[in-house]
Amino acid sequence: MRNSGSGLDLSILPRVINVNGTMTSLGASIMVPEAIAALQEIAPRFVPMHRLQREASQLIAELTGAEAGFVTASAAAGLSLAIAATMTGLNPGRAEQLPDTTGMKNRVAIQLGHMCHYGAAVDQSIRLAGAVPVPVGQSTQALDHQLEHALAGGDVAAALYVVSHHVVEYGQIPLDRFVAIAHAHGVPVIVDGASEYDLRRFLQLGADVAIYSGHKFLGGPTSGIVAGRRDLVRAAYLQNIGIGRGMKVGKESIWGVMAALNAWKTRDHDGIRAREQAALDLWQNAVAPFPGVTARRNPDPTGNPLDRLRLDIDARVLGASALAIVRAMATLEIPVILRDHEVELGWIQLDPCNLHPGDAEIVAESLVAVLTRARAGALPEPDVTAHRNGGILAYLNPDLF
Ligand SMILES: *Cc1c(COP(=O)(O)O)cnc(C)c1O
Repeated sequence: MRNSGSGLDLSILPRVINVNGTMTSLGASIMVPEAIAALQEIAPRFVPMHRLQREASQLIAELTGAEAGFVTASAAAGLSLAIAATMTGLNPGRAEQLPDTTGMKNRVAIQLGHMCHYGAAVDQSIRLAGAVPVPVGQSTQALDHQLEHALAGGDVAAALYVVSHHVVEYGQIPLDRFVAIAHAHGVPVIVDGASEYDLRRFLQLGADVAIYSGHKFLGGPTSGIVAGRRDLVRAAYLQNIGIGRGMKVGKESIWGVMAALNAWKTRDHDGIRAREQAALDLWQNAVAPFPGVTARRNPDPTGNPLDRLRLDIDARVLGASALAIVRAMATLEIPVILRDHEVELGWIQLDPCNLHPGDAEIVAESLVAVLTRARAGALPEPDVTAHRNGGILAYLNPDLF
């Protein structure tokens, strides 16, 4: 069976149902039709790239309220480029010198509770530019005086603030307060909002640069958006002559994410929410008959307008652990990938953001089948250590190549 025009056979890849979220390991998100059309449109053409980025800047400015913006390869790339910008300014010699930061301010303050891992460590995106992360506070607590102390040295180029479900949810300095302290020390604030819905809030709260992923909620091709103060955006863009070269973005990603941004303006957000709620209802009803499974709606922890279904698994009552459910669902004929960040605490989540028509029903049927096997004591208990280290083991898998 040949796919339309590519010459490749798509059926060599398993069909996967993603109720995990916008995961890089699963190909991020479902690209919106406008973005797909944009890729097709621009692929055969030559385009003056600076001109294209200028158009992107205007659209980014319109949607984010920023003075300017540009598109890069990914949000992670945007982080390194924005950090670099705060060290080099508009000096091309300095941009070429990185990651050697001799003669530049090179420290970047970040709350320890924000030093998360989104598939790679956020502090490595700082170090990649040649900068040195300066952790503020402890894992579950950062206080104003600790940030002030970190910024007082005078060699701090930037302060980085991460908004994400991956970060510690309590005990951190709120963004507006973080900005006030940083600005009092003349230090710009960069916000990593890669996976956030609200394209305006962080700049409104005073951040100098906000970074978004183009391939998460926006449904664009793989890309990142750097938006904010004109001088910093220009300096970040300059990094394409240096460390940014290995993070090069193509014309197709720029045009594609522009189409996604444009579509975002008229997206039927209420309709999407209604469909998501219907899926959550379906799943909640499907698991209701199973003792040892408690289902409840879980609002997104960073305020994105979406709920997930949280399933608390009492392994002694059900007959299998939360991890056993995750593994069993992932190894079905049509694999269903659950959200398992907190699985060792005995709960899993189902994220309704990336469903194709018909997927929700398959998820419900799969849940019933797997929970029925669990109740019969027929689910094997997976190796917890192997699961915990699974992200790395997948890269090291000798069967890959
Ligand atoms: C996903 C994510 C990133 C990385 O985004 P990419 O565009 O995939 O590089 C960075 N930070 C946070 C908080 C994320 O959730």
